Amino acid sequence: MTFEPLLPQMDNKRPMVIAGPCSAESEEQVLTTGRALAAKGFKIFRAGIWKPRTKPGGFEGVGVIGLPWLQKLKEETGMLTAVEVATKAHVEAALAFGVDILWIGARTTANPFAMQEIADTLRGHDVPVLIKNPVNPDVELWIGGIERIYGAGIHRIGVIHRGFSSADKTIYRNVPQWHIAIELRRRFPNLPIFCDPSHIGGRRDLVKPLCQQAMDLGFDGLIVESHCNPDAAWSDAKQQVTPDVLDEIISNLVIRDTVQTTEDLVDLRQQIDEIDNKILEILAKRMRVSREIAQYKLEHAMPVLQAGRYDEILNKRSEQGVAFGMSSEFVKEVFEAIHGESVRTQMQHINKWS
Ligand code: PEP
Ligand code: MN
Repeated sequence: MTFEPLLPQMDNKRPMVIAGPCSAESEEQVLTTGRALAAKGFKIFRAGIWKPRTKPGGFEGVGVIGLPWLQKLKEETGMLTAVEVATKAHVEAALAFGVDILWIGARTTANPFAMQEIADTLRGHDVPVLIKNPVNPDVELWIGGIERIYGAGIHRIGVIHRGFSSADKTIYRNVPQWHIAIELRRRFPNLPIFCDPSHIGGRRDLVKPLCQQAMDLGFDGLIVESHCNPDAAWSDAKQQVTPDVLDEIISNLVIRDTVQTTEDLVDLRQQIDEIDNKILEILAKRMRVSREIAQYKLEHAMPVLQAGRYDEILNKRSEQGVAFGMSSEFVKEVFEAIHGESVRTQMQHINKWS
């Protein structure tokens, strides 16, 4: 696949920024937010018109009545507009109302039937399409989605890394897996990559560091949720920032010219950060189980420390560690520290409840 420039009419300065609310709510909210963004120099406006929600009964987007609001904003400010499409009807309506960029959401990318339906509807149209990663970390599924859209003759394609859902509790709403996005860059060097810090972080305070991380990794663009009154947003209120805050974030990004060697190092450091995060999550999980064991021991009047079990853990783990190519001293030290903390956790739990 060879991709054509996404928006040839715009300069290719990094980052290309797409900004706007999670959802279009009213004409006034679209215009107020869009005007404020345009005044800060932002050139591409996003707004969800149809919202995929986990459960029925929530706000599912205003639907087609919102499309003229975007048209009005475009006429008034010259901003390009971007909306999410998930079905044939969405694509047809968005194109009929002159939407400039379509994006495909994470739940949709994960569904090959939906992707094919969108691709078939797009055939014969020349519109840029941004494809978010599927909710699950499957790079082949993501590429399959890109191939379906490309196969319909759409060659202005970009991708959006919006993180991946995880059963584990983490600081992120959707855990970033930067190496997956970097793998796409390796395979398709001219495919523009965007980062969506809003859906990765799920929290306002994570938007800025995530934008910077994406820039450090050589991403081309950012798609960020921005609302004129974030706390009152009808969807994703916690992760939206005002146009002023967004301007501050973008203006203060450090944009380094990436060359291959440092990019590799950044990638490796990123992998280390991801692994360290996982180690912390797993340790927290282990401490939680320790507290459950403490509760059990409490209910059954058992002592906290059972020496036999302690020796068994240390010996078994150090043997396993050696099999994985680590020194037995190192593994012993790590597990002594973990076990020590686990005993303290159990003592604390017992003192609190007995
Ligand atoms: C969105 O961009 O508002 C959205 C629903 O995103 P995602 O598909 O990443 O969840
Ligand atoms: Mn959203």
